Amino acid sequence: RRLPLDSSEEPGVRSVKGACFSILSRPQPVVNPRFVAVSGRALSLLGLDGPESVTGDPLGAEYLSGSRVLPGSQLAAHCYCGHQFGQFAGQLGDGAACYLGEVKAPPAVDRRGAPDQPPLLPGQENPSGRWEIQLKGAGKTPFSRQADGRKVLRSSIREFLCSEAIFALGIPTTRAGSVVTSDTRVIRDIHYDGNPLNERCSMVFRIAPTFLRFGSFEIFKPADETTERQGPSYGHDHIRGQMLDYVIETFYPEIQQNHTDRVERNVAFFREVTLRTARLVSQWQCVGFCHGVLNTDNMSILGLTLDYGPFGFMDRFDPDFICNTSDNSGRYSYQAQPAVCGWNLGKLAEALAPELPPHRAEAVLEEYMDLYNGFYLGTMRKKLGLLQKEEPEDETLITTLLQTMHNTGADFTATFRSLGLIPCPAEGEEGVVQEATDLLLKQCTSLKELRLANKPSMDPRELAMLLSMAQGNPRLFQMISDQKTIARQLEKLGKTQELAKINQQELRAKQAEEWTSWIVSYRKRLARELEGQNNVQEVLEDRLRAMNSANPRVVLRNYIAQNAIEAAENGDFSEVQRVLKVLEDPFSAGPSAEEHGRVGSGCAEEAEEEP
Ligand code: AMP
Ligand code: MG
Ligand code: MG
Repeated sequence: RRLPLDSSEEPGVRSVKGACFSILSRPQPVVNPRFVAVSGRALSLLGLDGPESVTGDPLGAEYLSGSRVLPGSQLAAHCYCGHQFGQFAGQLGDGAACYLGEVKAPPAVDRRGAPDQPPLLPGQENPSGRWEIQLKGAGKTPFSRQADGRKVLRSSIREFLCSEAIFALGIPTTRAGSVVTSDTRVIRDIHYDGNPLNERCSMVFRIAPTFLRFGSFEIFKPADETTERQGPSYGHDHIRGQMLDYVIETFYPEIQQNHTDRVERNVAFFREVTLRTARLVSQWQCVGFCHGVLNTDNMSILGLTLDYGPFGFMDRFDPDFICNTSDNSGRYSYQAQPAVCGWNLGKLAEALAPELPPHRAEAVLEEYMDLYNGFYLGTMRKKLGLLQKEEPEDETLITTLLQTMHNTGADFTATFRSLGLIPCPAEGEEGVVQEATDLLLKQCTSLKELRLANKPSMDPRELAMLLSMAQGNPRLFQMISDQKTIARQLEKLGKTQELAKINQQELRAKQAEEWTSWIVSYRKRLARELEGQNNVQEVLEDRLRAMNSANPRVVLRNYIAQNAIEAAENGDFSEVQRVLKVLEDPFSAGPSAEEHGRVGSGCAEEAEEEP
């Protein structure tokens, strides 16, 4: 990779200076490794033919757990830094991931156009001609800090399923080829009975054009004013130059070819990263995906979704949705994602200075929100089936749709999918609006669900006591937990009291009123959409097709992942494989016969009927 490597074989945790990678001698082996699930699609990137290519190999699980070193591999861990929750954290690095090396990609013709391969979309192609492969959870590296470099079954299954689900949704992402589990155990959380929870060491086999990230460039950072932390490779400017050259030449070859001036090349590169990031976040927003930990070390330099931790797909639409329980301030909430990614781009720009002159970076960053809004509006129009013309009022129509969803506790995925079933004015007579309203009401929360969702997790008396204790004592207030948590609990308490006053019929009537009003304005807009069309039938068919390819029928809901994890923890891996299969085809018309037969175990199909 033409980068200076730290030649030390010593795996001890340490500060790694003047190097981007540390060579590892070998991953730590585990007892009795075995496959939980395999993604044939992801493996085909490497020229492997179907899941059997690894499951059929008696040494497959040994290799993909790191218990045995694949011949030809070069083991390494990457040194990177990052801003975590807004603070420069200094050296982080691959604490749990181990590179196995790179695999030369098979000719493109083998990967594209195969019957079960979706065509590659922008941001999914790989111009380097090779794939970086790594194991996540394979043990300690120089960057493991106080942790053990291991991952457990639940986090590995979540990363595996979500990587492949996000890819199938047409969103750029790192990929996951397999999950392997073992009989080697680690202690994680303490169980509520007081006993430590023993969990199985498990590994995800990850694949990407590159895992380099914004934080890869932050190792050159000078000392931070507030934390006084400094990047471990501060002063090694020649390495930054080499890394920048490597990234642009390898992954942005057109930019390299089109620029003889180094600064102009770097600006063009930064503009492209900005554009990809804007597009990526817009895609997340449009499927209700929340990443959860948008630190700069989790921001891919290629605009890929990177590092699946506490991510979550929204069920009921809530702009304040937070999927990371340690995110007290909501820094990484659903609606904060676009802006926070812009902030992260600013940190990348700082890390690239002076290769990227700050005033040039500033000009690019100013374009970011417009780029984001453009992508977001484009996809939202498709989701609403507004394809023939663009109207300035479309933005309001989208905002009021989301507001209505929020007010009525409507399920994000199911609501969008059912918009295609609202009859257009040309087809509709009296009663159509009522029918459409009834359809949308099916996606709304019932009073029982609403009460459950708004139940404060703290006992009201406990809450009152904490508040009185904290009165006038900011330090105690901080200690009791964050003020936001208490505020949230109080808000829920208020909502609970409000909800106690109404009954289910009243709630439904209120929801119906909201939806009817939106449906009427939507149908007016649809009427304009069909104005002057000769072949209305054809337009409507195209419209429905476009909508159904923008509004997934299924996403990886939390409870679906949880069911699969629980089954797997009890030794039954079939649910993980079944869920993978469903998620590989998220836009399909409906559940297959096979899916139907097994709804009871809590699959995606159930989610559609009972959001
Ligand atoms: P994350 O919040 O997942 O982006 O991780 C932040 C940092 O913690 C990165 O440097 C990771 O490599 C490191 N890390 C996460 N999990 C582990 C683990 N189980 N063992 C060692 N390091 C870890
Ligand atoms: Mg990370
Ligand atoms: Mg992580």
